[in-house]
Formats: sequence, C-alpha cells, structure tokens
Amino acid sequence: MPTAEVAHETDFEGWRKAARAFRLAGVDPAAARFAVEGSSGAGSLFDPGPENPGPGVRGDAGGESGFTVPKAFVDVAQEVILHRSADRFDLMYRLLWRLRAEPDLMKVVSDRDVADAMERAKNVSRASHKMKAFVRFRAVQDEAGEAFVAWFEPAHRVLEKTAGFFVRRFTTMRWSILTPDGSCFWDGEALTFGPPASAADAPQDDEIEEFWKTYYASTFNPARLKVQTMQGEMPKRYWKNLPEASLIPKLIAASRARTEVMVASSPTEPNARLAKAIARSVRDGSYEEGFVASDLNELKHGVQACRRCPLYQDATQGVCGEGPRAARLMIVGEQPGDQEDLAGRPFVGPAGQVLDAALEEAGIDRAEVYVTNAVKHFKHEPRGKRRLHKTPTTNEVSACRWWLDQERRLVRPKVTLALGGTAALGVLNRKVAVTQERGQRLSLPDGSAAMITVHPSYLLRIPDAAARVRERATFIRDLKAVRELL
Ligand code: SF4
Repeated sequence: MPTAEVAHETDFEGWRKAARAFRLAGVDPAAARFAVEGSSGAGSLFDPGPENPGPGVRGDAGGESGFTVPKAFVDVAQEVILHRSADRFDLMYRLLWRLRAEPDLMKVVSDRDVADAMERAKNVSRASHKMKAFVRFRAVQDEAGEAFVAWFEPAHRVLEKTAGFFVRRFTTMRWSILTPDGSCFWDGEALTFGPPASAADAPQDDEIEEFWKTYYASTFNPARLKVQTMQGEMPKRYWKNLPEASLIPKLIAASRARTEVMVASSPTEPNARLAKAIARSVRDGSYEEGFVASDLNELKHGVQACRRCPLYQDATQGVCGEGPRAARLMIVGEQPGDQEDLAGRPFVGPAGQVLDAALEEAGIDRAEVYVTNAVKHFKHEPRGKRRLHKTPTTNEVSACRWWLDQERRLVRPKVTLALGGTAALGVLNRKVAVTQERGQRLSLPDGSAAMITVHPSYLLRIPDAAARVRERATFIRDLKAVRELL
C-alpha cells in the first residue's frame, strides 16, 4: 500500500506535499496511506519533491498535469489536521481526490465527506476557544524573576493555533503553556515550541488559586444555574485543571437552598428595628444640615439620618467606617456593596476578602486600619431579584465628603489610601486618573499623606487569570508602598 509519512501529527505542509504527489500519481484514496514519522515503521514511498508553491498553483508532475484546489478546502483542511481522529489524513485526501471531478464539492455541505470535515473543523475551533477560556496560569519564580506556567489538556491539537492569542494577551509577561502534545514558551520577545509535557512538570497550586476560588464562589449565582448549559460551556474534561472546578459540585448542591434564601430575602428591606433606629436619629435631631460629630459614634447616627443626597432612599442603612479611633492608616473604598448594605459594615463582601488577603500579604494588619467608603449609602439598581451596583455621581461623592472629612478629622490618619477613582475623588476632591497617579505619595491639606490604587473589586472583574495575577501583584506592591509610608 503506498504510504507517505508526515513529520508530526499537525504537519500540514508534509501532508500537502504527500497528498499532492499521491493525486498526481493517481493513487486512489482507498489505497493511500498516511502515517506520522516513526509510527509506521515504513519508509516514505513518495519523495515530497520540489517545494509546493501553494494551493491554487498548478502542479507539474504525474498523469494529471497539474491542479488547483479551492481556498475553502485548504482552510478546512488546516483545521481538520488538528483534530485528534486517526483517519483525518484519509478524509482530507478523499476530499482532495474528489475535487478533481467535483471542483465545487466544498460548497455541497450536505455531502458526507464535506459535512464530516466541517464538523471536525468546528470541533477544533471550539477546542481552541476553550483553551483561551480555561488556561489557568500559576505564578513561579525563576532566576529572571516572576513567570507563569499553565498545564492544559486541549480536546484537539490546538496549541500552535492558539498560542498567538496568549502572546497578544500577555505580551509583557513570561509564560509557558504545557500540554500533552507539546509546549510553548514566551519570553517577552519570542515564541518557541518544545516537546510534550506532563501535569507533573507544572506547579500544582499557588495562592492565586485561592483568590480565584473566592471570586468564583462569590459570583456564582444559584438562581441562574442551568447545570447542562454550564457543563456545555465548561465541559467536564477541563474541570480537573480548573481551580474553581473543585467548588462546582458543592455550589450546585447548595444552589437550591441559596436560591430560596435569595428569593426570600429580596428585594431587600431594612429590618424594623433598624428602620426605627434611623427614624429616631432623624427625630432626635442627630442629623441636621451642618451636623458635626464629636466622636465616631455620633457620626454613625448622623449618617443614618443623613438626607444630603437621595441615596439614603433605596439603601438599607448608612454604612460608616470601622477600625481603631487613632488608626494610622485609613483605607477608603467607593461605597458599600450589597452585603455591606445588609450587614452595616464596610468591606465584608468579596472585595473585602480580596482586600484582607492582600493586606495580609503586604504585611498590614487590618485590625489596625480604619476602613470606610467615600459614599455611605449603597447606590444600586434592581435587576430581577438582584441589586446591581451603580457608580455614585460626582455630586453624590461631594455631598458625602461631609462625612468622610469628619471621619478623617476624628481619626487623623497618617496615610489615607483611596481605592479607585470614586474614593480618590472623595479623598482629594478632584478627579483622578488612577492608572497615572497610583502608587505615588500625595499630600492632603492637613499635611498627611495619601495614596491611590485600584479597588479590589476591579481585580475580581478581570476575566483572564494571568492578567488578574499581574494586577493583584501590582495592588500588593501599592499596599507595600503604603506600609513604607507608615
Ligand atoms: S450617601 Fe452620604 S450624603 Fe448621601 S444620604 Fe447617604 S450619607 Fe448622606
């Protein structure tokens, strides 16, 4: 049986030369055999011959004097060769052979071979898409500093096809992606490919995974859970390499109970005791325009009764800061979120967990920090059963600066750290480009220092694992700079 060898599983050029030689020699598809070098034990019967100048260019040997193939065939064949099926070379050659008598074959989508090839090409494209979505990098240290390594098992051989995506996305980082088919390395300048790897070659876990799991669990919405759809988007074959996958069975199991709680507890209403306390604050005159608190407790009552802007109308309660009265560091966020609004305490939701972990890593004890927000009432809009965060306007931030300034006057922090643009507006009383001014020592009118960085919720919203890792590292670097100021 005429046998042609290709150099490796995805050697499209090798297959094309061999297939061209087969067709020119009149080898029927039923008789042609393709094998990957080293796997057949047979020598190559067909010399590839001179470099094939490309599809659509006439050949010059054999009974057939030359031939052209439509671009549609080449496009599909380049995908099909990445499919893991053992008979993909045969299918491609069968199509190439049939194109001789049926030049418009690729347009006949009902044809069995064409449909088969299209389906395999679609599977390959899907595998590439899944790779973009499910590669999870882990941080490692080597002699050149920080690098990132990911282990991934693609459904088809899409490493080379997809590597360019990661180069474009993570150009400034050094990273490696290891797969059972091969590996690729990006050093910030050049992309190189290497031999297959095993899971043991990749680091097993790191703290970033905990961060990602926290994010995943906090954003998992049981009311929207459709198990089949979820498994379609995140097929089980990828679960073993996804840190968040370990949470999925538990989250699914708990989803019914969580949904019931969500339904029962929404829309959120302030509880009666709290409503009474707020009404009493208003009646007692705890708040009046120009109210100045003599201590943090008074300030709390004043905030509950505040009517300086409309945000009190839809919130459960005003959320003041908390922490030591004489804290040297004050951290200012944007506004309470859904969980903070219900609990009446700042930074107790997912962003608070990210902040806590980052503070710890930066060597700052949260118990010694006064944590508050630029705006004290939760601004949101209803979306079904949920309350979605809305950014406060400049006017609302300006109105609420009345309380932030009082907190700063009472606590007298040595350093104030603003998390994000809204917080910076509240602290500095001017609009700030966070990316330009972050990490710099700024001065406040009372002579104390201020610094700006991103809000932890920003880190939670970054979809790409590696970008998230990088941004989190920068966030911690900013926190360390704050510690130095202290
Ligand atoms: S957001 Fe601030 S200014 Fe507006 S009502 Fe609440 S406490 Fe008052």
